[in-house]
Amino acid sequence: MKPTIPYFQFRDFPAGSEAAVQAALVEAVASKHYIMGKDLLAFEEEFACYLGATAAVGVGNGYDALVLALRGVGIGAGDEVVLPVHTFIATINAVLQVGARPVLVEPDKKTYNITAATAANAITAKTKAILPVHLYGQVCEMEPLLQLAKDHNLKIIEDAAQAHGATYKGQRAGTFGHVSAFSFYPTKNLGALGDAGAVVTNDTAVANFVQKYRNYGEVQKYQSEMIGVNSRLDELQAAVLRVKLQYLDSLNAERQRLAAVYLQELENMPDLMLPVTAPGCSHVYHIFNVRTKQRDALQQQLREQGIHTAVHYPVPVHLQPAYSLLGYSAGDFPVAEELARTNLSLPLFPGLQPDEQERVVEAIKCFYR
Ligand SMILES: *Cc1c(COP(=O)(O)O)cnc(C)c1O
Repeated sequence: MKPTIPYFQFRDFPAGSEAAVQAALVEAVASKHYIMGKDLLAFEEEFACYLGATAAVGVGNGYDALVLALRGVGIGAGDEVVLPVHTFIATINAVLQVGARPVLVEPDKKTYNITAATAANAITAKTKAILPVHLYGQVCEMEPLLQLAKDHNLKIIEDAAQAHGATYKGQRAGTFGHVSAFSFYPTKNLGALGDAGAVVTNDTAVANFVQKYRNYGEVQKYQSEMIGVNSRLDELQAAVLRVKLQYLDSLNAERQRLAAVYLQELENMPDLMLPVTAPGCSHVYHIFNVRTKQRDALQQQLREQGIHTAVHYPVPVHLQPAYSLLGYSAGDFPVAEELARTNLSLPLFPGLQPDEQERVVEAIKCFYR
């Protein structure tokens, strides 16, 4: 039996990066300053600078980043927020958490992202914001979305949890809207060794709000201006992220190189739709997601050969029992429902070896032969 090919695995890529991360951790431990120390401050500055934004504020995780971003631009009870039905549940939960109503819209059939065209239909008198998700690592086509938001006087909150470093017309994800949310969950393109997230904005008032709100609303110790929460980005994680940020471009380049191999090798398979990158967009392939009517059979056959894959996401949010309160039913989102039935994510992570990728390619070719 050949060795298993994991869907995802942490590997020492680029070589030596694991040792560099460990050295930074040891140093951070030795600093004896574990909450909001110099590494957090430095990371916030370095990440904002990398993106080309005014400010990044470290928070506990990506979900909190979304919640604080929404609160930061004043979204609350009675407001409607337009967002994709085809996303990870965190996006929707964050909107519900602040008391607003998530209004779901279909993704585009090719890019799997929402577009101005799909979002426009969902706008009502109560809509306060659009929350585009840069799904799988591809930035949404932002220009039309920004125009739509402007026309209706709406805020744009970006969920950039899967798109660290991706660009649209040369500008990085997370810098288009009024505010954006990042996750540094370990498997993300920029990942910590535990939970972490960040709110990014060019609006100093929003940055100031999040800085206080994440730390109990304190302006300084024991002086509260508002009732906040505890959602600070851990100092040890900040030390890790500072090192990994330096590798982000090469990690993304490696993901793009691996994607290019799949795109070339699998070009002519019958009934296999490969990911499409829209004009002006760059794709950092957080997830390499293909589609086929024979999804279950293909996944099963790969698995029999020790090749692990994933499905993003198997049940659309509007069909999950927990979200029945939103009042949607089967058939409301045919595109998303079809995606759920047909999508399959192939192994793609920095450090995946050529012989491993070759085995995946051959197994897929064999399936269609
Ligand atoms: C990972 C992810 C989140 C949530 O991040 P956590 O850090 O796990 O809370 C939110 N939105 C999307 C699209 C994600 O992929």
